Amino acid sequence: MENFDVIVVGGGPAGLAAAISAARAGMKTVVIERGDYPGTKNVMGGVLYSRATEAVIPEFWKEAPLERPVIEQRYGFLSGDEIFAAAYRDPAWAGPPYNAHTVLRVKFDKWLGQQAEKAGVMIITETVVEDLLYKGDNVVGVRTGRAEGDLGAKVVILAEGVNAFIAKKAGLAPQLRPDTVAVAVKEIIQLPQEKLEDRFCLEPGQGATIELFGDSTDGMLGTAFIYTNKDSLSVGVGALLEPLIRKKWTPNDLLESLKAKPYVKRLIQGGETKEYLAHLIPEGGYNAMPKLHRQGVMVVGDTAMLVNGLHREGSNLAMTSGKIAGEVAAQAIQAGDVSDQAMSVYETRLRDSFVVKDLHKYRKVTGFFEDNPHFFQVYPEIMMNAARMFFTADETPKKERQKQIMKMVFEHRSKGALIGDLFGAWRALK
Ligand SMILES: Cc1cc2nc3c(=O)[nH]c(=O)nc-3n(C[C@H](O)[C@H](O)[C@H](O)COP(=O)(O)OP(=O)(O)OC[C@H]3O[C@@H](n4cnc5c(N)ncnc54)[C@H](O)[C@@H]3O)c2cc1C
Repeated sequence: MENFDVIVVGGGPAGLAAAISAARAGMKTVVIERGDYPGTKNVMGGVLYSRATEAVIPEFWKEAPLERPVIEQRYGFLSGDEIFAAAYRDPAWAGPPYNAHTVLRVKFDKWLGQQAEKAGVMIITETVVEDLLYKGDNVVGVRTGRAEGDLGAKVVILAEGVNAFIAKKAGLAPQLRPDTVAVAVKEIIQLPQEKLEDRFCLEPGQGATIELFGDSTDGMLGTAFIYTNKDSLSVGVGALLEPLIRKKWTPNDLLESLKAKPYVKRLIQGGETKEYLAHLIPEGGYNAMPKLHRQGVMVVGDTAMLVNGLHREGSNLAMTSGKIAGEVAAQAIQAGDVSDQAMSVYETRLRDSFVVKDLHKYRKVTGFFEDNPHFFQVYPEIMMNAARMFFTADETPKKERQKQIMKMVFEHRSKGALIGDLFGAWRALK
């Protein structure tokens, strides 16, 4: 049996970041990836955040296969054919150190895998890890699906993404429930560069993102997104599994309904669908986080439920958790102590970082919005009515118009319910 210091299961951003940091600390490290190469199996919207990526690969933007730097983030509420939107644009985001880029994971993960190899990591592809190997209670390696496929390790890092079969067997990942997992579908729609830049009012090479709420998910807890790539758009939508099952909608129904909305239809008009992808997103947040370690093992990224759905952040939580886990593995191995207590340094560092701090801050959000679905149904309608009334120039005096707006608001939601909603939302988001 071949022995390594560190075995990483899964070649996504979490696993590759973990492997790079372990290898840089001198560890004999292997990544085992079931795809033909890192990225073939991976899906995201895909906004990649610069700070977390730069912490793993300094000045990654000089070489990485990036689509466009994001200079504008737009948020809109859809109701029927109407939209109420706001945008923030900062042209400074078009240059270093950047805030975020759009990426296509199939290209980006492949490149990140190559950077891992440059750092000394061995990557074994087309190989599925089937289980952990134990000596007594101690984890001593992994069993792969290959003949003579057992590999030994002092530390195993589980970065197998949301399905987390190995981590579940080891009691290190929660069972996914319809109220802790979202299902998302996405199309990559090709458009000529100039047309794309015209439609999104962008200078050549710049990028924009749009997130849509309300009718974009037929009022279900979820979001739709449109992101600009070099010569294509990533157009997708995701919703929590529970309302989808209840409403008997398929994820594809959501996507088709989104693409038919006038606002979206215009943006994708004339485009040609090149790819169709579907994936789960762990949305359980802080309350669904599993135990993050035990003797000789740590869980990172989606396997550990590290996704901040409200801010559509996942890849950065994955990379940061992977980097910390790789460093902790190296320190523990160098100290000759890979006990559960030694691995707990990973949890302490993760709790001190933005990763767990943010998940803790928003720990009540999913539950709150699940219990109050009218936020995605009634409020977009109120907003739309209010905007239409406010912007319609007829001969109604403005004071009277304001009264009409307030009356309309209270017809949809009583004063008491409105105050209750505001207070509840403040408590969930504070
Ligand atoms: C539709 C969608 C949109 C998203 N949009 C964004 C976004 O815009 N920005 C953002 O930051 N995040 C986004 N996310 C979240 C983000 O994609 C994830 O948080 C991130 O990919 C997690 O990385 P990971 O390395 O933990 O898991 P993954 O990227 O899922 O990687 C897991 C890897 O493990 C491999 N694997 C699994 N099991 C085994 C096994 N047993 N043996 C060997 N290999 C195995 C898989 O093939 C895969 O390569 C989005 C997610 C989805 C689904």
